Amino acid sequence: MILRSAILYASGNQLLRQWMEHSANARPLTRRFVAGNSLDDAISAVRELSAEGLLSSLDTLGEKVGGEEEARRAAERYVEVIHRVSILGLPVSVSLKLSQLGFDTARSLAEENLERIAAAGHETGVRVEVDMEASPYVDGTLALVKQCHRQWGNVRVAVQAYLYRTEEDVRELNREGISARLCKGAYREGRAIAWHRKPDVDENYRKLTTLLLEEGTWPAIASHDERMLKHARAEIARLKLAPERYEFEMLYGIRRDLQRTLVREGHAVRIYVPYGEAWYPYLMRRMAERPANLLFVLRNWLR
Ligand SMILES: Cc1cc2nc3c(=O)[nH]c(=O)nc-3n(C[C@H](O)[C@H](O)[C@H](O)COP(=O)(O)OP(=O)(O)OC[C@H]3O[C@@H](n4cnc5c(N)ncnc54)[C@H](O)[C@@H]3O)c2cc1C
Repeated sequence: MILRSAILYASGNQLLRQWMEHSANARPLTRRFVAGNSLDDAISAVRELSAEGLLSSLDTLGEKVGGEEEARRAAERYVEVIHRVSILGLPVSVSLKLSQLGFDTARSLAEENLERIAAAGHETGVRVEVDMEASPYVDGTLALVKQCHRQWGNVRVAVQAYLYRTEEDVRELNREGISARLCKGAYREGRAIAWHRKPDVDENYRKLTTLLLEEGTWPAIASHDERMLKHARAEIARLKLAPERYEFEMLYGIRRDLQRTLVREGHAVRIYVPYGEAWYPYLMRRMAERPANLLFVLRNWLR
């Protein structure tokens, strides 16, 4: 718990971030969890996954960008990614964060950028997935996603089982026919708004899984927790859902054995593939989820 909090604290340290992201020595740390620096690296990873029957969602790493220009550049990069993967005919969606599109500068900026990306996705048939960030972003993210869904209809939004509010949000998304990606939640939240004990988060995760599979539109069950996956598989069997009706999602480099098992069982599995230079906050969240990863990457680094 202390190590987890320390890692999450370090993830917000801008000096450490600057140093790590620009240090050639730190690069080998990322290899297991980040597909590389460039879109070409990411496309190679997507092809390898696809050869094993796995779908992908590409995340051009970046969050809390500096200003308007940077946010517009991030949107431009996503539009490029969409055109590239659609020309190549790869089984890919894109995943993005609204803070990357300028939400902190002005909500209208993020809205404009998201619309550009969603329009490109609509034109080419590439789906857009919006990650859920820390709690101050939740209302704004859901509002922009709803707006985008009404206009373009090709958007999925992440929801976090650790938040008390999420059951209400899921019911609303289900009513509006908006696709949701259910995850446990990766940020530090207060006890006033979020469960902290794992059994509580897990119980809510199971409940929301059932709600999404029963009433949702093409939900994604995003977890590496075998007990959550067991529950989802049992519900899929009970509801006799065809594999086109839902997906499992997992992170690049995590529980690769489980990813392949689900594919062998006939489920659709999408891998969230992050790539790019701004890898530090992403990697630190993965360390916080499983501090043993810290030992794993340090061991590889020393090698
Ligand atoms: C596709 C996808 C998209 C996501 N999008 C978001 C988002 O938009 N917003 C958000 O807040 N969170 C997001 N997350 C992160 C999520 O909220 C959790 O923090 C993370 O998935 C760990 O939870 P878990 O369900 O795997 O279960 P846990 O109970 O944390 O872990 C269960 C088991 O999974 C394995 N495992 C879990 N995490 C790791 C890891 N980092 N390294 C190695 N093994 C691990 C371990 O074997 C562990 O025992 C996403 C997760 C996935 C899979």
